[in-house]
Amino acid sequence: MGMTRKQQRIYQKAFRLLRDATPLRTDCGVLCGRRCCKGDDETGMLLFPEEPTVLRVVETGGRRLAVCGGVCNRNERPLSCRIFPFFPFVKADGGVDVRIDPRGKGVCPLVRQSQDVLFSHRFLHRVRRVGQQLCRDGECRACLWRIQQEIAQQQAFEAHFSAK
Ligand code: SF4
Ligand code: SF4
Repeated sequence: MGMTRKQQRIYQKAFRLLRDATPLRTDCGVLCGRRCCKGDDETGMLLFPEEPTVLRVVETGGRRLAVCGGVCNRNERPLSCRIFPFFPFVKADGGVDVRIDPRGKGVCPLVRQSQDVLFSHRFLHRVRRVGQQLCRDGECRACLWRIQQEIAQQQAFEAHFSAK
């Protein structure tokens, strides 16, 4: 179908909001050696519906993934990279709740130690605003719902097996 004008405006705003906001007030990549960028030519970041990117795109299982090989221009990062390691969860009342994304725990030390980390309020606020922007579009909102359901399923699955 292609990107609508509304989606174009949403992505422009979302990219701008997260252009220079980072999870910590200092560069967390220095602490971990930029572990979340250690993908290879086969590893991809999920793109939101019709999200524009200059990176190579592969389609798999009905999803578009941006593949970077571990290098990109910071101003051209996909939204998934900009919000990591958080995710804007959509609440039943339509509001947005920004929480740590448990899918990152195998990669990101901030996820594993999130209880002890002082995250940047500015970053959390910006991720919330990005979530609110995405919710303005039906396709993007459905995408957020789908991802958060997958996260919930994964957590239930892990809780089930860790309880055994
Ligand atoms: S893995 Fe986590 S701590 Fe490391 S650069 Fe990525 S977001 Fe920062
Ligand atoms: S697109 Fe950029 S920010 Fe995202 S994983 Fe690749 S190198 Fe890192």
